[in-house]
Amino acid sequence: MSSESNLRELICVLAKSMFDRGLTGGSTGNISARTDDGGLLVSPTGTSFGRLDPGRLSRFDTQGTLIDGDPPTKEMPLHSAFYDTRSTAGAVVHLHSCHSVALSMMPDVNEDDFLPPLTPYGLMKLGRVKLLPFFVPGDAAMGDAVRGLAGKRSAVMLANHGPVVAAKDVEAACNAIEELEDTARLAILTRGLSPRALSPAQIQAVVQKFDVEWDG
Ligand SMILES: [Zn+2]
Repeated sequence: MSSESNLRELICVLAKSMFDRGLTGGSTGNISARTDDGGLLVSPTGTSFGRLDPGRLSRFDTQGTLIDGDPPTKEMPLHSAFYDTRSTAGAVVHLHSCHSVALSMMPDVNEDDFLPPLTPYGLMKLGRVKLLPFFVPGDAAMGDAVRGLAGKRSAVMLANHGPVVAAKDVEAACNAIEELEDTARLAILTRGLSPRALSPAQIQAVVQKFDVEWDG
């Protein structure tokens, strides 16, 4: 099998796994990955993560022209913004995941550091997560907001909507966005219970040991 057909299969398997575990429902969520030739594979608009068809993924060439497959997700500007500002981005994933959306609605959340530092893996896989305001889905302003971060963040949270994460490849992006949702779930579960978060010294130790991209 060619590496592109392997990548097509992997995108669909990972998307279905997230759908099956309730990480995004209905026809929500979208995913994209760089191909070896510098093009992109993207989940088509209106599709369910539970039933993506490897043969119908939207295929773009290096110029960003759709050359094969169904029309892409309407949240394409969001994906392009990450690829254009982060040279290391090999994949982007977006979910409508319940606990992170719930956390985005809380009045006292820190917009510059959306996830509380509860576990080392949250820090390692995501760095600091920026909470972006609410945008009407598909609004190009969403992409502009990501561009405004100038490539300094690999993960953002769209308020009242869902997280978006870029990483070096599709597996890393899925692992990271799952960590984001898990950390948000911990934050919701322990809310009001005065949980002991990691201390600034513990955060620094993790950031240094694992060479975490830590904006701020
Ligand atoms: Zn969405």
